[in-house]
Amino acid sequence: MVVHICCSVDSHFFLERLRREFPEEELVAFFYDPNIHPYSEYRLRLLDVERSCRKLGIPLIEGEYDYDGWLQAVRGLEREPEKGERCRVCFDRRLRRTAEMARELGERRYTTTLLVSPLKSQEQLKESALQIDRELGTEFLFVDYRSGGGTQEQGVVTKRERLYRQNYCGCLFGLSQQRAQQERIADELMEPVTRRVLPGSVAERLSLYQKRIELEERGIPYEIVRESFLNYRLLRGAVRVEGEVVPSYIVGYSLLRRKGSWVRVRVEFVEEGIAYCNRDEVRLLDLESLNRLLASRYRSVKELAFRGLDYGEELGLREILGMGCYNLSPLIVLDKIPTKLEISIDAVTYRDVRQKLLIRKTYA
Ligand code: SF4
Repeated sequence: MVVHICCSVDSHFFLERLRREFPEEELVAFFYDPNIHPYSEYRLRLLDVERSCRKLGIPLIEGEYDYDGWLQAVRGLEREPEKGERCRVCFDRRLRRTAEMARELGERRYTTTLLVSPLKSQEQLKESALQIDRELGTEFLFVDYRSGGGTQEQGVVTKRERLYRQNYCGCLFGLSQQRAQQERIADELMEPVTRRVLPGSVAERLSLYQKRIELEERGIPYEIVRESFLNYRLLRGAVRVEGEVVPSYIVGYSLLRRKGSWVRVRVEFVEEGIAYCNRDEVRLLDLESLNRLLASRYRSVKELAFRGLDYGEELGLREILGMGCYNLSPLIVLDKIPTKLEISIDAVTYRDVRQKLLIRKTYA
């Protein structure tokens, strides 16, 4: 039987139950989820499903990440709520490909771990499957592992296996709606052009879950712990000198009182490469001073902007400059410090939760 897999939290429990109840079936897991966005989140969910299937000894096939095709299929349904028409199309697409995979493997039976997710409509899934079976001559297996304490049992399995628990269904549209309702920015959708890993980002989680696999392979005991922190995202920012935009690097946690508007500032004095401005506690740093302070060798601010400092270096820079880690003054690196300039910064700070790997020294 081919089992369509949506994520490890649903699949680990589902596959265990399926194997218990259908011991005669040879299970093949099929990860086909081109709905997942961004791609780093797709990699992360797949990584955890690979780990889960390895533990269960069930072969796994990765389907095509046909994101463009999926977008085309849900065109015009972007504003539909969850469990609405977009989800019906999304289920249909994933189930249809799973049924086709079953046929390619010479099987008739298939099912999906979506059945176990409390946020999905089992009715929608059944309706799609019925139509697919009529067309392809396949046989969808409907099982309800949610009721009779199933959801609670699933929670226990998730905790026991330390599975990656995502906090949105998967697609760009569902995520945007969810974050708008929560009055939170969808920071999952922000990835810098540089390879820099932002705190609390999907890329950070992906790297953490990759490391935990290494720890498991080396037999090193660990925990995944959560911590609250003040996160920051720069949405837009620029500097103008004599009306022309010049290359600039806006260091993390720089906030201006008037978000996104142009603010005219004048340099009052310069001390050791740091220019102190007359408004909004703006501080400027020239590239030469930055290189001296960080022992770096950037040749231009443009190069710095494309490579990007990491989060720790940005916080460290504020510390070196005596600004402290609670400082929200705009700190901007420029090739040369002008006497007058205009600055525009649109940025947000917000309470966030991130995960960390803790290596256990004492393990009971
Ligand atoms: S909310 Fe979930 S099920 Fe609905 S379309 Fe998006 S990814 Fe698919």
